[in-house]
Amino acid sequence: MIRAVKGFRDVLPEEAPLWRRVEETARDLFEAYGYSELRIPVLEKTELFERSLGITSDIVEKEMYTFKDKGGESVTLRPEATASMARAYIEHALYHSDPVGKYYYFGPMFRHERPQAGRLRQFHQLDVEAFGYMSPSLDAEVIALLSTLYRRLHLSQLTTLEINSLGCKECRPVFRDCLLQFLEKVRGGLCPDCQSRIERNPLRVLDCKREGCRRVMEEAPVISQYLCPSCQEYQEEVLLLLEDLGIPYSLNPRLVRGLDYYTRTVFELVTPHLGAQNAVAAGGRYDDLLQQIGGRDIPGIGFAVGMERTILLLEKGGEVPRSLDCYLAVLGPSALKVGMKLAQGLRERGIRLEITHEEKSLKAQLRRASKLKVPIVLILGEEELKKGGIIVRNMDEGTQTWCPLEEDRLIAHVKREGRP
Ligand code: ATP
Ligand code: MG
Repeated sequence: MIRAVKGFRDVLPEEAPLWRRVEETARDLFEAYGYSELRIPVLEKTELFERSLGITSDIVEKEMYTFKDKGGESVTLRPEATASMARAYIEHALYHSDPVGKYYYFGPMFRHERPQAGRLRQFHQLDVEAFGYMSPSLDAEVIALLSTLYRRLHLSQLTTLEINSLGCKECRPVFRDCLLQFLEKVRGGLCPDCQSRIERNPLRVLDCKREGCRRVMEEAPVISQYLCPSCQEYQEEVLLLLEDLGIPYSLNPRLVRGLDYYTRTVFELVTPHLGAQNAVAAGGRYDDLLQQIGGRDIPGIGFAVGMERTILLLEKGGEVPRSLDCYLAVLGPSALKVGMKLAQGLRERGIRLEITHEEKSLKAQLRRASKLKVPIVLILGEEELKKGGIIVRNMDEGTQTWCPLEEDRLIAHVKREGRP
């Protein structure tokens, strides 16, 4: 028996409706905010990620699927989308036609990490990027978009939006120096990873998830106290705009991101419901990224939503995956014949329905229907046929009503009794 590769998983048909719901909700919303789809390839030159994420990031150091192709070129399965989106924006000189380029993308990403709940080696992200503009109102709009997506998915109650500023080229080095001094003092109390981060990338220590490091870092200097006046003003404006828009957030002065390219605004959507995997979506502003990968000096901001974690949250939130509107139970050969015609007619009019093709008892068919989690079962037996009607059973309430065998009336029934 050949099994799937570790950390790579199938999305089974029973889960697929939830995936589609998230994707469809996101697509509608992103388009409503003026974003268009930009489809990027799965494979990129390794250099793209080294230059954008930084060679000391965890992703580049430990997690990339990098290999030499048959021509000897080093290529990498993309671990995230921002770098590719930026590459595509520059490569096709989209800034000529779209001075503010707003794009979105859905697809799989690849990171060689230790698989566990909410952490896979092939996982999926919804990605949103806005290139070309640096303005607090754009930051607020992008954050509002993420927040609205979660509200539409009814997940606001399970998540908190955290915001911070990482400063700019002017103020971050000052903070970095103070942080370095602090880290030298507490070096012995940090994990080996963090000890080596001190030289290579001290900001990353603030992001360590280990309990011991977290405790030590409670005393560390916080970046908000080191922001230059223009970064400070910028952040205040973003926050004011969010308040105007009624977007709830919480300031987290300790929030940093694991990648090198972020500047100023950073944010994460976090949840206490997924154990150690507490971030479901994350993003921020990256004003130097496009230049770093060899493009022009164009600013940008974006975020990525983790699909698997979002789906896990939907399941926690009690959302029932459902793809069918009803199940048609038929009893006896003549009912099956009439039922087939009825099923065909209802399906053509947009009702999603399953009908049995075996001779099965009503009990067995109802069992199948509850397994499918359909809200309604239509029951057609010889008796009903004779009377020219059908039984409509509401599975949530366990009630039954009688309906004449007419498509229009049945559809009205199914719509009225079904779940939205
Ligand atoms: P984490 O701290 O959990 O490792 P990250 O900072 O590496 O997350 P990002 O690079 O910001 O994650 O990616 C954005 C989102 O993508 C995360 O918030 C998460 O929901 C999702 N994600 C990242 N890595 C994985 C993974 N290995 N498996 C599943 N989802 C992931
Ligand atoms: Mg990670």
